[in-house]
Amino acid sequence: VIRLDGKTVAEHVKQRLLPRIEHFKSKIGRSPHLVVVLVGDDPASQVYVKNKQLACEKLGMKSTLLRKPANLSQADLEKLISELNTDDAVDGVLVQMPLPSHLKSDKIFELLDPSKDADGFSYFSTGLLWAGKATVKPCTPAGVIEILKYYKIPLKGKNVVVVGRSHIVGKPVAALLLDENATVTVVHSHTVNMQEYTQNADVVVVAAGKPHLLGKNDFKKDAVVIDVGIHGTGKGNLHGDVRFEELEGWVSAATPVPGGVGPMTIAMLLQNTVSLAEKRKF
Ligand code: NAP
Repeated sequence: VIRLDGKTVAEHVKQRLLPRIEHFKSKIGRSPHLVVVLVGDDPASQVYVKNKQLACEKLGMKSTLLRKPANLSQADLEKLISELNTDDAVDGVLVQMPLPSHLKSDKIFELLDPSKDADGFSYFSTGLLWAGKATVKPCTPAGVIEILKYYKIPLKGKNVVVVGRSHIVGKPVAALLLDENATVTVVHSHTVNMQEYTQNADVVVVAAGKPHLLGKNDFKKDAVVIDVGIHGTGKGNLHGDVRFEELEGWVSAATPVPGGVGPMTIAMLLQNTVSLAEKRKF
């Protein structure tokens, strides 16, 4: 089984951005600028946010972290988003999810200007995505496509099954696979006999958020398996939605966890920020 190595692909994406960042700097006189809004002190979110900032800095991009207390009001969060929407010095905005339970992420997806939407989760961006007109694509789904393309895995006319239909992974990855001319089936928790679908697929993208849900018997021989799931805490203890160890000698290629889809998300976020910066009119 070929291990589809997300670290290598993420590095490739980042290297590809360097000349674009340099060009932007010389033309506009400053670096592309991402603002990350972190509400509260969820430990996992703090790690994600830190990694995003470090990745920006490494590529010579500017990142600003706006930390807000867990008791921030909905009105104050909305005011902050409106200010960032119109701040000329800001190219991309990301509101780290999940928000504390009293805050409504729906409202943020409505409010955030699509021309600043670095995560590609705003409802306007979702519409553009399904219309095939997106400037930015949601980071993890875009990362899945990038891995498949890097390893030259054909999608045109292929039978691709997506397990999961969330706003952040399943649905957008299905849209992107359609754009690649795959024949896409989306299965979810109400699907009857899911195996009937996955066993016939050339490529299976698994984003169910259920540890070790699928194994060898769920895939056809020589299928390609992309595991988006992440479970567990810390290094050495991470695993995905797929029982990777069963796949040896059966599927043709698969992403490990960790080191598969995970590293792609930040790389695609940086790419989105650069794309948004380039599209702005100064
Ligand atoms: P989610 O919002 O919980 O959605 C899970 C989806 O899977 C839902 O559509 C659900 O169906 C479906 N599902 C659940 N159990 C199923 C089952 N037994 N059979 C078939 N479908 C099932 O999760 P998510 O946000 O999409 O994330 C999915 C996984 O990806 C999580 O492990 C998450 O941590 C990981 N993730 C990784 C990255 C990364 O950077 N690599 C980024 C985002 C997420 P219903 O709609 O019917 O409930």
